[in-house]
Amino acid sequence: LPNSLEARDVAFQLHSYADARKQEQTGSLVIEKGEGIYVEDVSGKRYIEGMAGLWSVAVGFGEKRLVEAAARQMEKLPYYHTFTFKTHGPSIELAEKLIEMAPVPMSKVYFTNSGSEANDTAIKLIWYRSNALGQPERKKIISRMRGYHGVTVASASLTGLPNNHKSFDLPLPQILHTTSPHYRTMKKDGESEAEFARRCAQDLEDLILAEGPETIAAFFAEPVMGAGGVVVPPDGYWQAVQPVLKKYGILFVADEVICGFGRTGNMFGTETYNLQPDMMTLSKALSSSYQPISALLINDTVYEPIADESHRIGVLGHGYTGSGHPVAAAVALENLKIIEERDLVGHVREIAPTFQKRLAGLADNPLVVETRGIGLIGAAELQHPAHSDTPGSLGAAANAAFQENGLISRAMLDAMAFCPPLIITDGQVNDLFDIAEESLKKVAASL
Ligand code: PLP
Repeated sequence: LPNSLEARDVAFQLHSYADARKQEQTGSLVIEKGEGIYVEDVSGKRYIEGMAGLWSVAVGFGEKRLVEAAARQMEKLPYYHTFTFKTHGPSIELAEKLIEMAPVPMSKVYFTNSGSEANDTAIKLIWYRSNALGQPERKKIISRMRGYHGVTVASASLTGLPNNHKSFDLPLPQILHTTSPHYRTMKKDGESEAEFARRCAQDLEDLILAEGPETIAAFFAEPVMGAGGVVVPPDGYWQAVQPVLKKYGILFVADEVICGFGRTGNMFGTETYNLQPDMMTLSKALSSSYQPISALLINDTVYEPIADESHRIGVLGHGYTGSGHPVAAAVALENLKIIEERDLVGHVREIAPTFQKRLAGLADNPLVVETRGIGLIGAAELQHPAHSDTPGSLGAAANAAFQENGLISRAMLDAMAFCPPLIITDGQVNDLFDIAEESLKKVAASL
């Protein structure tokens, strides 16, 4: 239909992570509304949102308390900024709340609007700090292959995925990548998981030594990798990696954009893996994505030199119009209240065994070569000889079958991700995986 929303979408929008020419042929899925773990398209078809949008709608769709919190703040003060000693209640309250919630001592919060901006800001503050400390050579940053940290010029450089670099002339030269912690694809013959974890730490140390430890400022990592295919670190990984950072005085930035606020069965992934980050980036479940907002938390090691330098030069020359936006901050505060009042972290722990058992059960399908996950996040990796020359084509077929059967997942190449709203019930987890199982059976039968 030439005037349908689907047709107008293809006519006017350029989409992320889509082959533009292909989309002209296939059209788009137009979602109209949502309630709980479900969304509905314009034709009235209902789907389980098995990805919580983009790993983010923790409290589910249609949460009236968030709508009301936004409306109240819109009426009172729809916008104000946080530049040059000006501020407002919601940003103050949210900053205080995040410092209270932080799993390791943090001293200041810097608000941004997206995960990418939070990581980008982290890089700028790290560089600023190195200059403040009189160490201008200490500017290199290490992240990991398959890590995902966003798409701004600097955060896309941190991201360790070819699609985010190809044809963009990235990564920036100061940003280096170390071994991905994915055991199945990266292990050497006969290497145990523990040996592999130690080798990852050794690879990191070798890179630091090859570059010169005095040139390395920081290491960025997600506690559990998300968009790189849900890579759960092998046993012993963080215990081996963290001492290397300590040894060379390298700042550790935990990207908690997906793990933060309950996903792994603790409030933060940092707790699940006993991490000691100097900085944390937060977004997504911070507001359940009802409003765009992100936050960068920094400890005193980071803050003190930055404060000294801004005092010396009279200004911290960085900031966004939307930093700490009052409506976004008010929604985030209400969202955190819901997460705490309903003990969604406890709920994740209760539901996770069913979720992980059903996820592991997908391995009965001949297409599934690996399942991996923790808490309420996981992925099933697919493989078939008919698709071995076209990475991503099997994932796309599975995605289409899931969608046909009323489940929204996300194919990261051929890994199908599952990351539902945290409010999902035991019964709904079973519904989700019933659809996934049936759909994968159909895809397998068609090959
Ligand atoms: N960091 C992680 C771990 C993410 O998963 C994402 C987004 O998926 C980002 C950063 C970037 O966030 P945004 O898309 O809000 O820029």
